[in-house]
Amino acid sequence: MLEVYKKKYIKPVLQYSILDFEGKIVESDNALFLNFKNQYVGDIHPFFETLTSLLIAEDNETVFSCVHLNIEDKVITADIILQTFADAKNPLLIIHDLTSHYSNYQTTAQVRNESVINSQILELKNTYLKEKEVFKNNFIANFSHELRDPLTGILTFTDILSKTNLDLKQKDYIQILNSSSNFLKKMIDDILDISKIESGNLELSIEPFYLLELLNEIKFNYKLKAEQKGLEFNYNFDSKLPEIIGGDAKRLQQVLTNLLDNALKFTDTGSISFNVSLNQLRAQKASIHFEIVDTGIGIKDENLETIFSSFSQVSNDHSYKGTGLGLAIVKHLVELTNSKISVSSNYGKGSIFSTNINFVANSTLVINKPKNKKEAKFDVSRKYNILLVEDSEITQLSVLKILASQGHFFLDIVTKPDDALARISNIDSEVDLVLMDIKLKEFRGDEIAKQIRKLPERHQKKVPIVAMTAKIFKEDLKRYKKAGINDVLKKPFNERQLLEIIANNLK
Ligand code: ADP
Repeated sequence: MLEVYKKKYIKPVLQYSILDFEGKIVESDNALFLNFKNQYVGDIHPFFETLTSLLIAEDNETVFSCVHLNIEDKVITADIILQTFADAKNPLLIIHDLTSHYSNYQTTAQVRNESVINSQILELKNTYLKEKEVFKNNFIANFSHELRDPLTGILTFTDILSKTNLDLKQKDYIQILNSSSNFLKKMIDDILDISKIESGNLELSIEPFYLLELLNEIKFNYKLKAEQKGLEFNYNFDSKLPEIIGGDAKRLQQVLTNLLDNALKFTDTGSISFNVSLNQLRAQKASIHFEIVDTGIGIKDENLETIFSSFSQVSNDHSYKGTGLGLAIVKHLVELTNSKISVSSNYGKGSIFSTNINFVANSTLVINKPKNKKEAKFDVSRKYNILLVEDSEITQLSVLKILASQGHFFLDIVTKPDDALARISNIDSEVDLVLMDIKLKEFRGDEIAKQIRKLPERHQKKVPIVAMTAKIFKEDLKRYKKAGINDVLKKPFNERQLLEIIANNLK
């Protein structure tokens, strides 16, 4: 019975044939192919022709793997084994049908190849994206850097112009110049922030600060702005708020002013409310709830998510100025504190933006009294020699105008390291302070600073050096410090900032 079933269901995979030394098949079990007997192998399939040269009387096994055979309308993939024997016995030909094995193997191999290729494509794409990202961030950093020199010029000369005799109309024009260039400055700062965030270069500092002092200052500014627009301004600061907290005060201020600026911008009637309360105080952490409520144009439900993406603006009304970067920056900053920003809005009625931000709060937090910054007051009995190393004509002119208006300074301007070193080494007239541009066309200011610090004379090598630059990423600041630079003036700067930093660094 079993033999009957076997015959019926067994699928033969092996065929054994015995050949003579001429390649003629003398015996075959015809398991796979019929009619093998008495044929010459070379006539059955061209592949077998190669076997005729191997039909020798020696012990030998030759295996051919994965051979495609098309015999008697049957197509198979087989391993072919030719076994020869030393004692003049006839060679044995075995055909092993491995069609299903090879087709499975091929599919697996193909899938594997495809997945390897796909992962390589993904890797290439990632590398490409990374390079594009690095290029974009470098481009933004350089581009905004280049914008700062002309902007310093505009800000300085607007300032200088505003102090001249102007009629009312001219004063109005100056105000427009002022607000436009400040808007431009904010845009450049925002774009730089976004590129810092995207390249993972933005970190928050944790320093103790007086929370209420910061909130009151913001409240004071925005109350004024709201009232100027005819809006009511309400605020509520919880009496339980800790006096001193640890966190990044500058970035907190940036978050709150961005939200308040939007509330002001998108509200024409009604009110703006600024509420701050203590959410939780636990394990030396204070979670503080900030909420900004407006009765403005509101946001449609379908736009509540997109407004937090870079460059997204949902209002088609072009009278609202903006870049669409503010909320993207707010979202990132809040997320850096492991928190979230939420918005709820009633379209046409108003919006509420709120967040809980975690700060350090413990009784040991103390505020180091800020360095008693000298007001920009100078010894009137003498004049100071200032050396400016700068090749941008606009900045040269800006610094010259500001310093000339004071009457306390002699200014020398050079553009090359050799000239800078020669001027400082002039013993007849000591330089009191060096203003050093960092990105000169051919040289780097921090490299020149290093050379100054190697000068032989003590008072020459100790001359105070103030860098003027837009590049103030953490690693830049480290580099400047290492080069012996004492202080950094961020471009664009205004008159007050320039005079203050000079006063603070003069010996
Ligand atoms: P910007 O204000 O520069 O356009 P933001 O990122 O700050 O960019 O805001 C993105 C968009 O979200 C705004 O253009 C506006 O459409 C919408 N939006 C933000 N805040 C408010 C608000 N308080 N009321 C109504 N719409 C708002």
